[in-house]
Amino acid sequence: MIELHDDHVFYAFSRDLEPVITVGSGETLRIRTKDCFGNQVQAPEDELDSIDWDAINPATGPVFVNGAKPGGALKVDIENIEFDGQAACCTGKDEGVCGDLFDAWSTRLCKIEDGHVVWNDGLRLPTNPMIGVIGVAPAGGPVNCGTPGSHGGNMDNTAITVGATLYFPVAVEGALFGCGDMHAAMGDGEVSVSGAEAAGHATVTLTALPNLHLENPLMENATHWGTIASEETLDAAADRAVHDMVRLVHDRCGMPEDELVMLFSLVGNVQVCQMVDPEKTVRFMVPKYVLDSCGFAL
Ligand code: CA
Ligand code: ZN
Repeated sequence: MIELHDDHVFYAFSRDLEPVITVGSGETLRIRTKDCFGNQVQAPEDELDSIDWDAINPATGPVFVNGAKPGGALKVDIENIEFDGQAACCTGKDEGVCGDLFDAWSTRLCKIEDGHVVWNDGLRLPTNPMIGVIGVAPAGGPVNCGTPGSHGGNMDNTAITVGATLYFPVAVEGALFGCGDMHAAMGDGEVSVSGAEAAGHATVTLTALPNLHLENPLMENATHWGTIASEETLDAAADRAVHDMVRLVHDRCGMPEDELVMLFSLVGNVQVCQMVDPEKTVRFMVPKYVLDSCGFAL
């Protein structure tokens, strides 16, 4: 397995980045990632007012994947997520959903032990490991790693976990993949503006799919297919995630749109990824048994 270290990080997904490594299609990489604070919050005295805000949301990479072509897709299988022993949480003035309540930053450090985030002596939270920032170079100008979009980026989607597969639209030769900002625990919405932010290792398999054309990220796991949409508001993101699923299945299976919309209304789940980043992210998840019965395949 290829090991990729975190001495090469970037702060904006961009077509102009120099790749740090070139891999063959189908290669598996174990990627060292920094936390969203660039590992600058390690001790109680590490105040968010004094960290370098130009060094937040680092993604490790970018990785050039042989065979990934503009107009095609990159398939990313999430094989494993490992964490260091500590996570950092934060909220603050004008941050997150309740930023109106605060005048300053608050941070909290939590140990990660035996698959749990230790909140205090009486409360241990089972981890739900996930990758917050993951994506490829966008078609347009650079997009900072704090912002999600059609290229992926800071989607903060709890379903991006071990066993999930992502599909990204490729805009440039090699795709220029990167990831970072892993969370040991996070609820849908990420209401405080952070999860349990932890450095660690993400193991992913990257496969070029030059014949799959996508406009936006798509995902699957053992039970569901999902469209992922990021827009200025949750309403707009939800609306587009559902539209994208209807169009995807209509184009591939030929079922009439009214039938698909009625069917999806019975079995499809609109789920909030995050509501605290510059664009809000929603996923629309439809059970695989339903799409299998329609003959759906990518
Ligand atoms: Ca994030
Ligand atoms: Zn994060």
